[in-house]
Order: sequence, then C-alpha cells, then structure tokens
Amino acid sequence: MIVEIKINNHKLNWRERLKADKSPYEYLKNIENLHFSFIGDDDRAYLQDAGIYNHEAEDDLFALRLRLNAGRISVKKMLLISKIVKEHDLDIILTARAQMQLHGLNGDNVLEVWKELNENGISTWQTFGDNVRNIVTDVYDGRGHYSQIEVYPYMQQMQDYILNKPRFIGLLPRRVSVGISGNRANLNSFFANDLFFALAEKEGAQGFNVFLGGKNSELAQDADVFLKPNQVVQYFIAVIEAFHLHGLRGVRGKTRLFHWLQKEGMEGIKKQIDKEHSLSYQTAGTLLLQRYDKRTSERLKDKSYVYTYYTDFARVNADTFIKLADFAKEQKAEVRLGVDQHIYFLGLQNNVTPFENSNTISTISACAGNEHCNFSFWHIKDDTKYLPLDLIQKHSIIVGFSGCIKGCGKHQHCDIGLIGMKTSAYGPTSEAARIYLGGEHTFGLNVARYLNLMVPKESLSGFLEVIIEEFEHSKYNEFEVFSKEILNTYSADFLSIWFLCKLSAKKEVFLEKNVEVLEEVCTKVEKEILSRNFKGLIPSSDFKPLSEISRLSKNLWKIQSEMSA
Ligand code: SF4
Repeated sequence: MIVEIKINNHKLNWRERLKADKSPYEYLKNIENLHFSFIGDDDRAYLQDAGIYNHEAEDDLFALRLRLNAGRISVKKMLLISKIVKEHDLDIILTARAQMQLHGLNGDNVLEVWKELNENGISTWQTFGDNVRNIVTDVYDGRGHYSQIEVYPYMQQMQDYILNKPRFIGLLPRRVSVGISGNRANLNSFFANDLFFALAEKEGAQGFNVFLGGKNSELAQDADVFLKPNQVVQYFIAVIEAFHLHGLRGVRGKTRLFHWLQKEGMEGIKKQIDKEHSLSYQTAGTLLLQRYDKRTSERLKDKSYVYTYYTDFARVNADTFIKLADFAKEQKAEVRLGVDQHIYFLGLQNNVTPFENSNTISTISACAGNEHCNFSFWHIKDDTKYLPLDLIQKHSIIVGFSGCIKGCGKHQHCDIGLIGMKTSAYGPTSEAARIYLGGEHTFGLNVARYLNLMVPKESLSGFLEVIIEEFEHSKYNEFEVFSKEILNTYSADFLSIWFLCKLSAKKEVFLEKNVEVLEEVCTKVEKEILSRNFKGLIPSSDFKPLSEISRLSKNLWKIQSEMSA
C-alpha cells in the first residue's frame, strides 16, 4: 500500500488531503501529459516531488533542483548541465544543501530538461516538498585532514532507501533534512538538520551521536544515542519510518520533526523510532567535534591539494562551469559542492588554479532572493554589497542572509544573521534588515538571537562595522568565541541598545564579559551600564528597552531618511 497517512488526532492539512486523494507517485506517472502552461496549486504541490518548482505569481517560470548526494558531481554531469544551461539560457544557483538549481525554465522547455537530466543520471526527485532532501556532509568527507570515518557509503544507502520509492515520494508529513559527518571538524555546522549524525566516541570506538529536531530556527537536540558506523543506516531508516507513521499532519506550519519532538518529547519519539529497528545501541558517546582551522584545508590526507572556486554568492554561469569541468578533467580532480555554496576540487597534484577568480567572499550564505524566490523583498545576492564585505572576509565571519523568515540563508546558524524585510518605521516603506547575532553553531549550543531592531539597507554596513569593531577590540580570534564569551553574556535588548548608542555617540567603549546571570530581557545592571556609558543618550537607567531601541533607531535613521529625501 503506497498511501499510509495516519491522522494523529489532527485534521489533515490541505497538502495531506491532496496526498490522500492521489499519491504523488500516482500523479507523477502522468507528468508527460501535463500542460505546463496551465497548472494550478495542486499541480504545483505534486511537481515539487519531482524537483520542479513554480510559483503562482510567475506561473510561466520554472526551476529545477538537482539532487547530488553529498554534493559529489562527476565531470560528465557538469558538462551535461553546462550544455543544458547554455542551450536554454538558464541560471545556475548552488544551494545550502550542496545541490544545484536551474532557473529560467518555462512551460515549453521544463519537461524536456527534466527528462534529459533524469535520463542521464542526474536526479531531480524529492528535492522539494515533503521528502528526505539531499543528504549532506562535510565537503572533505573521507579525504580531509579531520576525516575519521568516510560517510559517503552510508549516505548512498540512505538515499537508496528513499529515492524513487513510491512510499516516500512526497508522503512524509514534512521535509526531512539529514546531515552526517565523520569528521572531527566541519567547515559548516549541521545542527540545523532534522536528523544529524555527529562523529563521537564511546568506550574507545568511534561512531555517531544522534541529534534530532533541527530546523532553520532551531538546533537539533541530543537524542542520547550512540551508534556504531554499521548501525547508522538502519537508525536513519527507523527515524524516517517512525516520522512517516507518527509525524504530525495537522496545521501545516507545525509538521516538522521539531514539532513532533515538541509534542511527544525526546523519549516519546525515541520509543516510536525504536519500534522501527532491531538495533542494540548505547547512550551518547563523547562528541568528537572541534573548531575548524581553515589553514588545514589546502592539503588532504593523501597530501594532494584542493582548489576552492568561490561562487558569486552561489551563482555560477555556464561558461565558468564548463571551464571548471575542463579543469577538473585535466587535473583528474574530484568535484564536490559544499553546503557553503562553493565548488571544491580535491586531489590536485599541485597547488594550481584554473583561472583568476574575482569572487573572494567565502563565508556568506545568501538565499536565492527576489531574483528567484517570490518570498523575498530583497535581491539578497546583489544586496550583499550593503555589507562590510572586507571585514567579513578578513575575519572569516560566518554570515547567513535570508530573504524571509523561512531562513534558507541559515541566518540563525551563523555569527551574524540577516533577514531582508521592509519597514515604514523610518518614513515611507523601505527595505530594512532584521539582525541576528551570536550563534554558537560549531557545537550546536545556541542559535543567533534576534536583536529586536530593523536596520535600513543603506545603514547596514555602518551598523555591522560597529559590531565587528567590538569583536576586533576583544582578545578573541574567532567571532563565534567572542559571541560565547562576550555577546552571549548580555541580553539581546542590551546589545541592541549598546550598538545603537555606539553608532549614535561614535564613542570608543567596549564590552567586558558580563558576570551577571543572563536574562532574556535587559536587567537593571545592564540598564545601569548603558546609562553610565552613554549619559547623553540615556540619561536614566529607568527605561523600557523596546521603547529605547525604537527611539534610538528612529533618532539615527529617521533623521537620515528625512535628510536624504
Ligand atoms: S529564505 Fe525565503 S526568500 Fe530566501 S530562498 Fe528561502 S523562502 Fe525564498
């Protein structure tokens, strides 16, 4: 039986009712008969399961998402993609799940391209919608200095279990993001995944600790499970099966694995997961996780070299992609896409580069933006020019930049996070960004906190420079450590007011570690610190933080927008 949708005492949401009416597998059997110029909401939902994206606001524009397990891609596939992109004048965008998206398709060519890709071994299946999305790992899996256990073979088995299987095509309660790393350090954090297997050690043996329930705004939680490497695939299957059977299918916005975890508790969902396997596992081992030292990445374990092609905030044009494919062929390099949206060439015999690359920014994850996504007000990729790029690059500050609250730019799993929005707080409606600060992402300890203020686009660079200057003045080498030791010892409201005051007063004053117990709201002591340091701006320590943030922001930016009007 293909459709097994359990109601769990909730009214089914519209998408579940659709699946129950006709399974995506059944619907997609007839994809070739679909008139792509006349599709409706139901068609759109089903097409996502085949990797085809369309939005009603631009119903003749289509995008395809290409599934590349672990981001690994052969030269042959690169050349085929380049040919297709040139032929149809498409844009290539890399994603934060180490996949590619082809944008610029229309109702006349989307099916043809979809077929050509899938017939040539480049799957687009289950890349959107309620599916196990592309499974991710560190780009140096198996070959890097930090690699202990190569996880790619396990990832292939995981993918084999779900890919093109009628039971799993679009039939989960919601998307499931899976990450696994057998490395002691990773270039990027995987704690935003619904399911993360992290390298750990128990009684002298290496394996994986399990984390559950991550998403773009939440960290995956320790499930207190240690698995031997040969148990990982079976546990993955058990999680997926249990989620399929027991995950929530009611209010659409509350159907992620995170919500199931919230409802049932960790022990509750583990009981359900344990019914789906016959493993005997141990309680969590010691995480073998350390901070990534970028200086180690130029040589691999076998002493060969790596070249990293930094993309233009995830964009690559077809001609460049062809040159990169030729380079990989000539150098016999292995090509991998990173979750950081860059392209890695592993196994070079010499420290060679294919050509001069003018893209130099490596640590900003920028979502698709309004060029390719209807949820965004901002262009995002081009709007990175409003950020202090030199400082970000100089200090390798990890920035997540999203065009909406959905958070594809992972703005809460980074050092500095941004969401491009709009506000009328400073005059006529204009673009302004929400700021998030201080994610402790490496060890999955804290997501970045919202500072409760909106910074006009044109003033973003100046505001962020004040924050980065504070970091430069600290004794810490990494922004994440500075966050842990300094920023995250203060309330978010305090930090908002502190940086607004510094920007207003242009005063050289710097934070010490706060010894108080951290509260979510601005404490009396914090108010006194603010009043003491910025007497001219905050004459009394008796103030309401949110009103003060609003007053200071308007003083700064309302005046500026009036002056520039
Ligand atoms: S974060 Fe929002 S705007 Fe950006 S790609 Fe995701 S859904 Fe679109």
